[in-house]
Order: sequence, then structure tokens, then C-alpha cells
Amino acid sequence: MAAAFAGAGRQLAPRLIVLGRQGAGKGTQCARLAEQLDVPHLSSGDLFRAEIAAGTKLGGTIGRYVAAGELVPDDIVLDVVAARLGDNARRAAGYLLDGFPRTQAQAQALFEVLGADAAELAIEIDVPADAVLPRLAARRMCIECGMVTNLHTDSSTGRCPACRGFLERRADDHPDAIARRLAVYDEQAPPLLEWLRDQGLLVSVDGRGEPDEVHERLVQAVVSRIPALRVLCRAVAD
Ligand code: ADP
Ligand code: ZN
Repeated sequence: MAAAFAGAGRQLAPRLIVLGRQGAGKGTQCARLAEQLDVPHLSSGDLFRAEIAAGTKLGGTIGRYVAAGELVPDDIVLDVVAARLGDNARRAAGYLLDGFPRTQAQAQALFEVLGADAAELAIEIDVPADAVLPRLAARRMCIECGMVTNLHTDSSTGRCPACRGFLERRADDHPDAIARRLAVYDEQAPPLLEWLRDQGLLVSVDGRGEPDEVHERLVQAVVSRIPALRVLCRAVAD
């Protein structure tokens, strides 16, 4: 699969943004889509959790915002994301941005720094606010491999389906922080989505239903906007 893609030319390496409310299934869908498209999956939340876990001074600062359900300030976000996105050579492999940009200011900064090529498509996974609360309450993360799973499907074992590690509630999945994060999303997302729509980048997909169905909609959104990727998507689907 990767070889077929590489043979199709490097200029095809996709650069995508995926957005969605907390609990929309963004992390799971992004991991799957990034694997299918053979691009690195860059999650700002994962970068921040790694920094917090590393116990650095920066991690301590970030941790206070994350625990409260507040956004990390833009200057810190841009530094951390820029460090991960790396130089031109590294970016040539493409990327799938998950959780960044989260504000209009971040989106504008991304396109100012990287130019029009910063992303060719932004996909919103649309799930109504009342549907995500039960999902967030049941969400658990593996302490070993970081896989995100759900008590409803894994209650029989309480262990990670991938590595059998212990599952725990993410530190910011407590009711106050959940409520705050959803409120922040409702403030920040509309101007961000509108800006992306104005740039001609935005496609919304319905995030309700089974993960396989949502994945299929994401793939359709990608190939309808970037037909060159049809080959890759079909090769994987077959
Ligand atoms: P969720 O979106 O479900 O809250 P994430 O893993 O995407 O989870 O992010 C966790 C936390 O990290 C956010 O609540 C926020 O504090 C911080 N964060 C992640 N991405 C950004 C960003 N682009 N800008 C500001 N803060 C961010
Ligand atoms: Zn695990």
C-alpha cells in the first residue's frame, strides 16, 4: 500500500485537518484514516499529554490548562506543533492534523507560516452536543499504549483490547472539565469552521453511527476532494 502511494509521486502526500467536538470520535477516526493514507497522525492533545508526562516545566504549564479544560495559549500551541511538524523535508510526507488548529487564530497562523499548501482539506466530524456526553463519560485510555476505548464495548475485561494494559479515565474527562471543554468548543469552533469554509477547505461528515460507517464517510470526503487518493483508498478497501 505504502509502496503504491510512494510510486504515485510525493506531491500527492495529503495534508489534512480533522475537526470535531470532544467525543466525536476524532482520535479513533484520525488514527485509522492516517494509517490508510499513510501519513503521520499529529494530535495536539497527544503532544501535550506527552509533554505533561515528560515532567518538563513546559509540561507543567500545559497541564494546568488541560486539567481545567481550557485551551492552551496559542503561542505555546504553535511552538509545540511547529516543533513536531518539522522542516519542509519532513512535511513532504504529508500529515493529518487532529486537534489543531482549534481556533481561527491558530488556523490563520498555520497558513501564514506554511502558505496555501498547509492543508488541502479540513473535515469536520459533526456530532451533536447531546450525543457526546455519554461517550465522554464512558471514555477510557490505556495507560500502556494510549489507545482510547469505551467502557460500553470493553466492560467485560476492563483491559486494553490492543495490549491488555489497564484502562483509566483521562485526567481531563471529569465532569467540570468536560463541560468547560464543550463550552470552549462552542465558542471557538463556529468562527474557525466559517473561516475554513471561506477558504474553500471545509467538508462536514455526519459523525453518528458505527465507527465503520463514519470511516467510510471520511474516505468518501477525502476522495471526493482529492481524487488522486482514490487509488490508495480503493487499494485498502479491497
Ligand atoms: P479534547 O478535544 O477531547 O478535549 P484533546 O486530546 O484534543 O482532547 O486535547 C486535550 C486538551 O489539550 C484540550 O482540552 C486543551 O486543553 C489542549 N489542546 C489540545 N489541542 C489544542 C489546541 N490546538 N489549542 C489549545 N489547546 C489545545
Ligand atoms: Zn493498550
